[in-house]
Amino acid sequence: MATERTFLAIKPDGVQRGLVGEILGRFETKGFKLVALKQLVPSRELAESHYGVHRERPFFAGLVDFITSGPVVAMVWEGDGVIASARKLIGATKPLEAEPGTIRGDLAVNIGRNVIHGSDAPETAVFEIGLWFAASELCEWTPADQVWRVEP
Ligand code: UDP
Repeated sequence: MATERTFLAIKPDGVQRGLVGEILGRFETKGFKLVALKQLVPSRELAESHYGVHRERPFFAGLVDFITSGPVVAMVWEGDGVIASARKLIGATKPLEAEPGTIRGDLAVNIGRNVIHGSDAPETAVFEIGLWFAASELCEWTPADQVWRVEP
């Protein structure tokens, strides 16, 4: 399994509801490595680029309004298979269909307020990391307990 990076973002509903610590903890305790973290209110330009694939969808305008309505916690996480694994930890797009134990399954009820975004594929992850972060914001480090989580 290749070591890779993914882009995750706690949406304004997750921040407003005080779920940042709870959500960060899920990825931290799983054993993935935090590479970058910042809070910002996204510009419309950033939100429209991020959700560009949905530009023609009826929910696009509302989604952009929502994602720019308050602080978002943007993150890059690293680990073997982290892109697909994070999507599993996040759960289905519709929170009522998300399995219990997943973030959306445990913490959300509505598709328009599903608390977190996660890249869905390697190409998307590269695009989204580059869109939200400068290379200088990505921290290169080795966790002190790495050998206790990943067999050398
Ligand atoms: N979304 C929405 N209404 C819909 C479909 C999607 O508000 O009918 C929003 C929702 O916040 C979702 C985001 O658009 O998380 C992106 O949709 P996608 O299908 O890419 O889901 P995700 O990858 O976030 O699970």
